[in-house]
Amino acid sequence: MNTQELDKKYVLQTYARADVEFISGDNARLVDCNGKNYIDFTSGIGVVSVGHANKRVNSAITKQISNITHISNLYNIAPQAKAAQKIVDSSGYDMQCFFGNSGAEANEGAIKIARKWGESKGEIKKYKIITLQQSFHGRTITTVKATGQEIMHNYFGPFPDGFVYADDIPSVESLLDDHTCAVMIELVQGEGGVIPQNKQEVQDLAKLLKKKGVLLIVDEVQTGGYRTGKFLASNVYEIEPDIITLAKGIGGGVPIGVVMTSLKDVLSAGDHGSTFGGNYLSSIATCEVMDILNQYSQSGELENTINYFNQVLEDFYKKNKRLFTKKVGIGMMCGLRVKDADTLNSIILNAKENGVMVLKAGKNTLRFLPPLTITKGEIDEGFKNLKLAVSSL
Ligand SMILES: *Cc1c(COP(=O)(O)O)cnc(C)c1O
Repeated sequence: MNTQELDKKYVLQTYARADVEFISGDNARLVDCNGKNYIDFTSGIGVVSVGHANKRVNSAITKQISNITHISNLYNIAPQAKAAQKIVDSSGYDMQCFFGNSGAEANEGAIKIARKWGESKGEIKKYKIITLQQSFHGRTITTVKATGQEIMHNYFGPFPDGFVYADDIPSVESLLDDHTCAVMIELVQGEGGVIPQNKQEVQDLAKLLKKKGVLLIVDEVQTGGYRTGKFLASNVYEIEPDIITLAKGIGGGVPIGVVMTSLKDVLSAGDHGSTFGGNYLSSIATCEVMDILNQYSQSGELENTINYFNQVLEDFYKKNKRLFTKKVGIGMMCGLRVKDADTLNSIILNAKENGVMVLKAGKNTLRFLPPLTITKGEIDEGFKNLKLAVSSL
């Protein structure tokens, strides 16, 4: 049986997979099982931020696992402590980290911290968490409920109580009550359709929440790790959240999730844990990714790449206004609004045929999440392929 047949027979069919099988990669380049080349504008949905087969990450991992891969969180783990230091230092916030294995798990941790904090605040139990309608926070029972999109709440109930949905940032205020412990937002909604929030509105919300004694949780699972140009989108928006979650882009492809918070004393030993979280493998990968991206940012290369990518994307947008209505996004989290959903599906299909991988977000957004280390040559080649892909549409 070939891979597709094996998958159909033995794997639960929860994904509408595209008919392609990649076997190797190099930075933003992929090769499939027939030897065909592609430019990857997806980076595994914002995960391989430092590119495929990154030599520095691979060598750090190989060196580490030739000594030890996993020993449990019952003991001190040097790369975990170092990864936490690198993450906290890069953030500019006075925080501590907890390590899990995914974005959803990081958000679960954030919700637990907020709920425990809310229990200890005075007479009234604070447990409600306000999120946004178009948000995406994960696939576990709790994070599905935290996700505002109504379509995600089919089946699987009953859900945990206490999630309230605001239409947008300004309408959060009217939903606050004595039971609200936190507001959780993405600063740039990813899955919802590459929707950056308004900076002033976010800053006003942050101020309001401080005044009211309500926590601000920022889900940076997609925006974190320099995706928006700075280490965190919270840095771009110049706010100081109480809790931040990270995952996708900071492990270079190794599963990792992080919840970081300035509320260092809320959780005590035994309140939270993870078998795999922050083990030697994922922590060493994260340490190396952090080093690579910190250098890449400090040298100005990240900014150059972001500028070049956006310039080429803008040009592509202007030449194809018959298909697209708007260019959106921040940094290397970009999108083009497509005039209708059918056209979007055709673009993604044609793009694959023409050797460039792109993503969908929301109903009508063509999404670009290239590796942050993508070269000019790779960007040019990707857009050359994309032009061919849309030429017949
Ligand atoms: C991808 C994503 C998640 C879920 O992450 P998983 O690793 O799939 O659990 C949560 N929040 C945001 C903003 C995401 O983009």
